[in-house]
Amino acid sequence: MAHEIPEKVTNVIVTGKSGAGKQPRIDVLVEKYELEQLSTGDIFRTYLGNFDNYDYDGDLSRFWNEKEDDFIPDKEIAKELGTEDSSVILGMKAKFFVEQGLFVPDRITNALFESFFGKKGYKGQVLDGYPRTLDQSKYLLNLIEEKNTDVDFILWVDSPDDLIIQRTIKRRICPECGKVFHLEYKPPDEGKCTECSTEVIQRSDDTEEKIRSRLNEFKVKTLPAIDYLRESGIPVAKVPGHLEEFTEENVRRSVLDAIEKME
Ligand code: AMP
Repeated sequence: MAHEIPEKVTNVIVTGKSGAGKQPRIDVLVEKYELEQLSTGDIFRTYLGNFDNYDYDGDLSRFWNEKEDDFIPDKEIAKELGTEDSSVILGMKAKFFVEQGLFVPDRITNALFESFFGKKGYKGQVLDGYPRTLDQSKYLLNLIEEKNTDVDFILWVDSPDDLIIQRTIKRRICPECGKVFHLEYKPPDEGKCTECSTEVIQRSDDTEEKIRSRLNEFKVKTLPAIDYLRESGIPVAKVPGHLEEFTEENVRRSVLDAIEKME
């Protein structure tokens, strides 16, 4: 049975494999429902940047305790890094996982997400890239109940693996404003961002090996997370990540059509 098209929404989740083309669909939702974008990937990249600026060049695996499946205590990390700055320490932890194409552990991700979501009053957000595991889905559902808020629907941007690998290897982003480019389909202007003229960069996790690792993480961890949300009663609208003719109008149409037909 098709769900009623919402006029006003509280929060929306956008999910899909990393590199499926979520951003243009998020732009549609942000405009249509007057929402803001809350991206755990962006949050982790910001912390990662704090760590990179700190200029530590030791091997990060020394901070990971394989046996305990956890980082060594923060006090010991601080001693080795020579700083107690919690954003640098968190940046190191994010980098350790992001750069291997692995998900950041749930306890770190959930706590960070809750703090940023809370700053927004738990509403008016497009949740981009969260939740991505079963544990995160459960955490979010508890949180929205506790804070008396809601998630109206999930937009799932779906794309086959081979197309994602092709697209992502040629992806470039602006480190200043976050605008996303593609070397063939949406090239930057002589290597510079068309919005703010900053030199665009390749994300450190956009290599084929790391992309394959992220695709595997999606299959193993995120599919069950989406199923859980759907079974909990949140409707899912699926849109193709690849369009024959990729125009703003076609993207908008396909998103709005999918919302109309969602189940
Ligand atoms: P994204 O920009 O959404 O592709 O995220 C980049 C990277 O950040 C991912 O490959 C993960 O390493 C990490 N990340 C982002 N969101 C999450 C999440 N919800 N759970 C775990 N790791 C995440």
